[in-house]
Amino acid sequence: MSRIAYVNGRYVPHASAAVHIEDRGYQFADGVYEVCEVKGGFIIDMRGHLNRLDRSLGELSILWPLHRSALERILAEVVRRNRIRNGLVYLQVTRGVARRDHVFPGPNVRPALVITATRSDPQVSDQMAATGIDVITVPENRWERVDIKTVGLLPNVLARQQAKDAGAQEAWFVDKDGIVLEGSATNAWIVTQDGAIVTRDAERGILRGITRTTLFEVAKKLGLKVVERGFTVDEALMAREAFVTSATKTAISVISINGSSIGNGHPGSVASALRGSFFDVAEKTPA
Ligand code: PMP
Repeated sequence: MSRIAYVNGRYVPHASAAVHIEDRGYQFADGVYEVCEVKGGFIIDMRGHLNRLDRSLGELSILWPLHRSALERILAEVVRRNRIRNGLVYLQVTRGVARRDHVFPGPNVRPALVITATRSDPQVSDQMAATGIDVITVPENRWERVDIKTVGLLPNVLARQQAKDAGAQEAWFVDKDGIVLEGSATNAWIVTQDGAIVTRDAERGILRGITRTTLFEVAKKLGLKVVERGFTVDEALMAREAFVTSATKTAISVISINGSSIGNGHPGSVASALRGSFFDVAEKTPA
């Protein structure tokens, strides 16, 4: 079956889907995006992702490309047309197409919307969770507004490639005080020796992950304590567990940082418990 994408009002074959060369997303990274997991035919935490989209758009003074309810319908339609039971749905809104000029175009230029959906095999993610991942650390080199989910991801791309080149699967950005911020596409967590789950506060310096927010509820349900505070690389190296979270990964254990084992060098029980209960708590919207 051929894939279908939604581009500015039309459902088109994925292979020939295209945007204009003067789309500001292409020329200036002047746009934002969201990724929702699709699990068993349901879109996971769609409301949370669209709330964050609303915030990202607002921070950049980009208008919604269409009404939220219409966008919700199109997200589901793209999932359905691609017959995706498990995978992800990606949406991107840019400031639109206009002659290249740094200043915003006039009100006649409409934001551009692209939605795609991708199938994935849940067994691959489960296997990754069973094995755990290796992480490297890299110095933070991003701008201050990483709380906005923009498509300007070059530092994240370079960090993830650096991780791959080092034989690892994720890179953690670390600030000048040695505090872990977040991964290139994940939030970062540890479990201390006395069992507290720790992740950095999301007031600044990181993206407020939707998975992160849902996992606070999951932890509460499981009677586990979460503390929002920064932790250093050294503290992570001494932790009982470390893990990363994102919409496409749920929670995956980190078994080493810069080549040093975390805990017993195997995926930990807290990450596994959080992962195991995630979909009981997350919001599910039928596609
Ligand atoms: N931080 C960054 C930089 C990310 O790209 C992502 C993935 N979107 C996350 C954190 C995790 O966010 P979420 O749980 O909403 O996928």
